[in-house]
Amino acid sequence: MLSQNLIDEINEQIKYEFYSSHLYLAAASYAYTQDLDGFANFFIVQAEEEKFHAMKFFHFLNEMDATIVMKGFDTPPADYDNLVDLFEHSLKHEKFVTDRIYHLMNIATEEKEYATISFLKWFIDEQVEEMATFKNYVQKLKRADNNPAVIFNMDSELAARSFTAPAAE
Ligand code: MG
Repeated sequence: MLSQNLIDEINEQIKYEFYSSHLYLAAASYAYTQDLDGFANFFIVQAEEEKFHAMKFFHFLNEMDATIVMKGFDTPPADYDNLVDLFEHSLKHEKFVTDRIYHLMNIATEEKEYATISFLKWFIDEQVEEMATFKNYVQKLKRADNNPAVIFNMDSELAARSFTAPAAE
């Protein structure tokens, strides 16, 4: 049985993962206002991934015989100065999520909760990927310096992204 502290913290994490999904749908909304449908698609796919993360924690709590609590949260921002601002904000958010995963791992390690430690490893690897993706786009967009041809090409590229749920382990 998981400790109450770990159950509470994982329920908090479910909230943050769903918040991430909303945050990226709000980002998609911002992209649509800029007529950047490819960027909007990128964020819609990102939102799907975040929902998948939330549901992984959701099913884990159930498998561990713990009670799932669905919490509410604030409306995420949808106003950005430009694409660099949007991707920098997203990167900052992913860093926050990484800190949260590390926090969960610290508790699980202190409690010698090996099932949770094993479960969290997937998220540690996933966060490396998430942060690398956003860091890469921040750099690309800074280099593009709002050049319409470069932004147009990126938008076309991002229109092709689609969500595939990772195979169940
Ligand atoms: Mg996530």
